Amino acid sequence: EEHTLVLIKPDGYARGLIGEVISRIEKRGFKIIGLKITIPTQEELEEHYFEHKDKHFFNSLCEYMSSGPIVAMVVEGSRVVQSFRNMMGDTNPALALPGTIRGDLARDWGPDRGVENIVHGSDSPQSADREIALWFPEMVD
Ligand code: ATP
Ligand code: MG
Repeated sequence: EEHTLVLIKPDGYARGLIGEVISRIEKRGFKIIGLKITIPTQEELEEHYFEHKDKHFFNSLCEYMSSGPIVAMVVEGSRVVQSFRNMMGDTNPALALPGTIRGDLARDWGPDRGVENIVHGSDSPQSADREIALWFPEMVD
């Protein structure tokens, strides 16, 4: 079965949305096979978001992502990578459609706050493998 790496970001944790996100994943028929609460370190974020390291928003992204606990999950299911991307909705909460996690639960914080959008999901099976190895090294042989 395919796997994806899901993070409930600090805004999702702080706003009490863990149950809501997990409930949507379970109701969709996907299986949570790894789960932990952690506060990301700068090193973990530089690895996790390596593709964004040179972007103008990278510093604010790291500040946001290390501002409190997150929930990291390994989720299993058929075509779960693309399905969970669809469940998340657009990166920008202002553009995310109703029915998606971001479209229902996130708000547009504007340029000063960066993009706080509740969840992360791997963007490809290759990214999922890399991200699962980062957040759940104990699950990878
Ligand atoms: P994620 O990788 O967290 O699942 P994503 O794949 O939808 O989100 P990316 O383009 O990978 O979006 O951006 C990673 C994260 O960086 C976004 O989720 C958002 O929190 C932040 N971000 C992206 N673009 C911007 C921007 N223009 N300004 C501020 N923050 C941004
Ligand atoms: Mg991404």
